[in-house]
Amino acid sequence: MTKKRLIELGKLHDVLYARACKVFEENNPCKINRNGCLGCRYNLVTKRERCCVECKYLGPKGCTVEALYCKTWVCYHVELTDEQSKELAEIQRIAKENHLLVFRGSKLDALKYAIPSFNETVLKWIKLICEPVVVKA
Ligand code: SF4
Ligand code: SF4
Repeated sequence: MTKKRLIELGKLHDVLYARACKVFEENNPCKINRNGCLGCRYNLVTKRERCCVECKYLGPKGCTVEALYCKTWVCYHVELTDEQSKELAEIQRIAKENHLLVFRGSKLDALKYAIPSFNETVLKWIKLICEPVVVKA
């Protein structure tokens, strides 16, 4: 794994994450508002089933990392349009092919997973290309 490949993977992660965010920002399929999400508000999902429950990356204002795996997943109560499903499936396919899908994983976790021979030098590179995430209010 060369540094160049690592940078390519970092950029690919950014592009895929942005594509997935677009699906949720434009259409809000989880119907999120100040009272929570579709699942939470109507108790459609139990506390244990909620997607972020007990995750180490869950902060007071939501997720604190760019979690690509999570951004391509919805609970079974969310009704996606065909177009949304197709887009998320396509993002998942590309991410999986590039070994970037890590359950509850940050970008750093995903890049670590994508690299077969992980070592301290590689970790230094990865940290350099993982921009800090600004959590939206
Ligand atoms: S990593 Fe996934 S499960 Fe964890 S807080 Fe972020 S979105 Fe939720
Ligand atoms: S996937 Fe389900 S539990 Fe998670 S935010 Fe969307 S509606 Fe809520």
